[in-house]
Amino acid sequence: MALSAGHAFAQCAPGAIGTSRHLQIDTTGGPKLGHLQYPGPELLKPGEVVLTFDDGPHRQLTPVILDILAQHCAKATFFMVGQRAMGYSDLVREVARQGHTVATHTWSHPNLKQKSPDGAVAEIELGISAIQKALGGPAAPFFRFPYLSDPQHAIAHLKRRNTAMLSIDVDSYDFRTRSPTVVIRNVMGQLKSKGRGIILFHDIQPSTAGALGALLSDLKAGGYRVVHLVPQHGQVTIADYDQRVGVPSRSIAAAGIPVRQRSAVAPAWEQRVLPVVPPPPRIAVAIPEAQNAPRPAPERPVRERPAGEDWRRDAFRGW
Ligand SMILES: [Zn+2]
Repeated sequence: MALSAGHAFAQCAPGAIGTSRHLQIDTTGGPKLGHLQYPGPELLKPGEVVLTFDDGPHRQLTPVILDILAQHCAKATFFMVGQRAMGYSDLVREVARQGHTVATHTWSHPNLKQKSPDGAVAEIELGISAIQKALGGPAAPFFRFPYLSDPQHAIAHLKRRNTAMLSIDVDSYDFRTRSPTVVIRNVMGQLKSKGRGIILFHDIQPSTAGALGALLSDLKAGGYRVVHLVPQHGQVTIADYDQRVGVPSRSIAAAGIPVRQRSAVAPAWEQRVLPVVPPPPRIAVAIPEAQNAPRPAPERPVRERPAGEDWRRDAFRGW
C-alpha cells in the first residue's frame, strides 16, 4: 500500500489483467445503471467487467485489496460509508491516490425505504459531505443504495443532484461465505451467463480479500477486461451538510469496530488474510449533533427488506 500509483503500475504481476479503458460517465439527470435493477443502455462491451467495492473503508482489508489491485493494475470504484470514511480518512485518500474512483454509499448504511424522504436525503447528503471531508476533495457523483434499496423519493433526489445510481449485474455474495473459492465461483458462474457486468464486492469481507488475486487471474484467463468508471466532474456538496459533518459535538468510537462484529461469517478465515498488524485504534470521530442527524446504532429490526438480504443487516449490526 505504500507504493505510489506509478510505482505500483510498474510492478504489475506478470500477466496482469490491467485496466482496458476508463469509461467516463455523464451523470447529468442521474442515470440508473446496472441491469439487476435498471433496464437501460448497455455501457459495457462483451467481456467487460467493472469492479466495485462497497461498505469500506476497512482498516485491515481495504489495504489488502488495494495491494492486489495494484499488482494486477486494475482500477475499481469504492462506494464508501460516510461514517467509516470519517474514521479512516487516510484510507479514503489512499484509495484515491492509487487512481481508484471514490463514490458514496450514505452516511450510516440504513435501508432508505425505511426512512422518511427527508431522512433519506440527510443520509445521502451527509455521506457525500463526509466523504468529501475525508478525501479532501470531491467524490465522484456516483451513488449506490445500501441493500440496493431504492425508494422513489431518493431516486428523484439523486436525479436532481445529477448523481448516477449504480446498481449491479453480478453479485459475488462475498457476505455469505468465508471461502474465497466460493466467491470466485459465484463471480465466474454469473459472468459465464451474462458475459459482462458491474460486479459487487465488499472491501469489509475477508472472502473477497482472499479471492481477489486469483479471481483477477481467472478473469484475465477467461478473456475478460476491466473497465474503470470515472466521472466527468466531482460531486458538488451542499453547504448545510458540509457544516453538519464538520461540527465537532460528541465523539464516538465507531470506525474501530472489529469486522467480526459486522460480518455475517466467522472471523477465523479473516486471520489468514490479514497482515500482521496491531489491532486498530478506536478512532474517535465527530458526528453531527443535530436532532435529526443519523445515529450509528441501527439496532432496531429491519423490516420489509428484500428476500435473501438478511445478512446485510447482520453485517452492520453493532454500528
Ligand atoms: Zn452496502
